[in-house]
Amino acid sequence: MKKTLLSVALALLLALNGFAAGFDSHFKNSTLRLDFVLAGDASHQDVYLQEICRTGQWAGRRGHLDSLLLEGNAQVFVRSLEGQLLYAQSFSTLFQEWLTTEEAARVAKAFECPVLIPEPRSKVKVELRLNNHHRCKAAALEFVLDPEDVLIRKVADGGMPCKTLMDGGALDSHYDIVIVAEGYTDAEQEKFFADAFRLNSFLFSHNPFAQHASRFNVRALFAPSGDSGPSEPAKGIWKNTATATNYDTFYMERYLTTSSLRKVHDVLGTVPFEQIILLVNTERYGGGGIFNNITLSTADHPFAPVVFVHEFGHSFAGLGDEYDYGEDGLEDPTYPAGVEPWEPNITTLTDFASKWEDMLPAGVQIPTEPGALMKNYDLRRIWNTLTDKQKHEINTKLGVYQGAGYRTSGVYRPVQECRMRINECEEFCPVCSRAIVRMIEFCTTK
Ligand SMILES: [Zn+2]
Repeated sequence: MKKTLLSVALALLLALNGFAAGFDSHFKNSTLRLDFVLAGDASHQDVYLQEICRTGQWAGRRGHLDSLLLEGNAQVFVRSLEGQLLYAQSFSTLFQEWLTTEEAARVAKAFECPVLIPEPRSKVKVELRLNNHHRCKAAALEFVLDPEDVLIRKVADGGMPCKTLMDGGALDSHYDIVIVAEGYTDAEQEKFFADAFRLNSFLFSHNPFAQHASRFNVRALFAPSGDSGPSEPAKGIWKNTATATNYDTFYMERYLTTSSLRKVHDVLGTVPFEQIILLVNTERYGGGGIFNNITLSTADHPFAPVVFVHEFGHSFAGLGDEYDYGEDGLEDPTYPAGVEPWEPNITTLTDFASKWEDMLPAGVQIPTEPGALMKNYDLRRIWNTLTDKQKHEINTKLGVYQGAGYRTSGVYRPVQECRMRINECEEFCPVCSRAIVRMIEFCTTK
């Protein structure tokens, strides 16, 4: 009886204090970085814990701690020893993308995977879980984390030049982005800050980011590289850079990533962040964006600003690619039939009610036939000849259009053209826009 009364009193206390009390009762205002290693091949995967580090203040969300807005391909769960879920976060990984490649059928590899959690006040159970493309558990690691463990490595402030590009407000109620220099030498420091300012301004000129700009903090961190520009393996060019980025990831010439995520996090030191953007000093086309993991953008290609926005759509809002690879993409295994993707802007119609069904006007045919104008042309080629009214219609007329998620059939998108489909289209479609707003609210509302 006494225990029940105490529980009621505690619940009331937490209710009166809102979510902040929920956070503070279980967590400190500091961050633990769990350095996992994900290893295996197409048929079998494992998760290992390599090291735990203590970094800076907690910049992640303080509300909705025990829920996920999107499933992602992987999740971290922090539970009390009694099993109460205290914190969850979802994300995707380069390792899981690699599993779909031909190489993964013949060799096992290991990938670095740092994951941030708020530092618990007492011992907790941590679970790192990887899903397969059928959204089923493929691998997991569970362990008890003791915040008093003397081997938790304390990360020092790197002391690198850091400028605030946008100052929305306090860490605990705003979304924190950090743009990190990659492939900029000491002599190119001012170029980096100018590039970061230019590309960030372009991102926040896009709705819905523009309308919600006051919810964000953006910092730019200069990490000097010994050499200028990233590595280009297919050309035999290897550079000594701050975060070891390279083109030709998975032998795809335009895919620019880094396999040294621990190096990235070491460069960041104690800088508070929720989303990392590596700004790569090159004129070459390329980039990459992985949900709640990392964004890579180039600085100087003519398409760099729009690719930057597209890739950030992946990494911030978990948006899927609305393009297909033509006939070549028919066998792409990423989105199998009969499995509804967790990405909010594509569907296999397995569970369309969970997607944009509520936004569709009555009587829309499924699948939706493109209008005459849209049907007969490669819109990328004629985009500049279209009127603003035509572009707007192509970008906003909702339907269920076949061709998305790298497949010409079986995966559907919400509009004919969107920022998540072609570089030429200036705007996110209404479904992508709603997904972005939902993520902003999820991350910044206590
Ligand atoms: Zn879209």
